[in-house]
Amino acid sequence: MSSLAWSLAFAFALAASLGLRTWLASRQMRHVARHRDAVPTPFQGTVSIAAHRKAADYTLARIRLGHWQMAFGAVTLLGWTLFGGLDLLNRVLLEAILPHWGNLAYGVALFGAVLGIEGLLHVPLDLYGTFGIEARFGFNRMTWSLWLSDAIKGLLLAIAIGGPLVALVLWIMSASGPLWWLWAWLAWAVFNLIALVLVPTVIAPLFNRFEPLKDASLEARVRALMARAGFAAKGLFVMDGSRRSAHGNAYFTGFGAARRVVFFDTLLARLKPEEVEAVLAHELGHFKLGHIVRRIGAMLAAALLMFAIFGWLAGQSWFYTGLGVRPGLATPNDALALILLMFVAPVFGSFIAPLFAGLSRRHEFEADAWAARHADGQALASALLKLHEDNASTLTPDPVYARFYYSHPPAVERLAALGA
Ligand SMILES: [Zn+2]
Repeated sequence: MSSLAWSLAFAFALAASLGLRTWLASRQMRHVARHRDAVPTPFQGTVSIAAHRKAADYTLARIRLGHWQMAFGAVTLLGWTLFGGLDLLNRVLLEAILPHWGNLAYGVALFGAVLGIEGLLHVPLDLYGTFGIEARFGFNRMTWSLWLSDAIKGLLLAIAIGGPLVALVLWIMSASGPLWWLWAWLAWAVFNLIALVLVPTVIAPLFNRFEPLKDASLEARVRALMARAGFAAKGLFVMDGSRRSAHGNAYFTGFGAARRVVFFDTLLARLKPEEVEAVLAHELGHFKLGHIVRRIGAMLAAALLMFAIFGWLAGQSWFYTGLGVRPGLATPNDALALILLMFVAPVFGSFIAPLFAGLSRRHEFEADAWAARHADGQALASALLKLHEDNASTLTPDPVYARFYYSHPPAVERLAALGA
């Protein structure tokens, strides 16, 4: 492929992706606004008009923010690539670091600089999301000092974990010959599997407090459910989700010895015991039906495909020049190639996102059905409705928008499937 053809293909894909996402967002906004003043029939009597309007306004505010984030992301992406930002940064670091500290240090520094600048650029809109929108709708519990300490911890973790990982992948790229992409994928896969154990046990406790579930009757209820389902977990924990947000959730994480069930305190405060049990049953359903293993398998397979394509792309000079970067003739281009891939993959990936969303929605229906068999389906339905209300999720999404993006089916469909 010529460099110009690749530039045009990239620009076209970016424009098509922006156009598609803008069209979907405007559909969703029109649909939600049109249904703002009437609670849909199945929910009349259970959902107040005030809560329904709040959900509509919150949905509209989040989509508007999403618009700005999308536009800003496209501008920075063009700035990095076709307008030469990455090339400029690369020249500076090549001269400043490569001669003194060598290939690996230069590669890690380039990665760190790009990610650092990207992170900083996105701070203002993230802050507006948390302290503007979330606060306006009464969801935000985050303070400025907590935000700052989260940011510092996140940065230190990124340096401590991301730095060595990037160095390892760059070393593999330079040292392991033409099949480097296979080894790099393997290193990435092992890293992800280790993370599945370390995140719940080591990393999450850096950000939240986890305490054993103290409510004895709820614990007995949950243990009985797990025994019926033949599921063993190392512990039941309550997490202080209320430190940051009023949104409620429950999840369970980890593998083997690290497996644990976690309830947000916001969820326990809001739901009745039988509703908590039903929500947990839904999560257990995901596990028992093999959704989690299949999701991880699909992620690893997709990554293998991406690394294979990338193994080929990294050796083509048009891949660099077409994206506004001059590859070095005598210097290594591994870090540049990885960064360009990181920029380009989401643009092309946005077209296959609906496939994953569709699969996820099917799993949600299956987990709901499993929960209805092993716990109380009506309690699950009422819990879903409460969670929808507490998260101000709209009950009237645009059907096309929901098909494209929603990882969970719209509440109307889930409640109908539960027979509520
Ligand atoms: Zn689910």
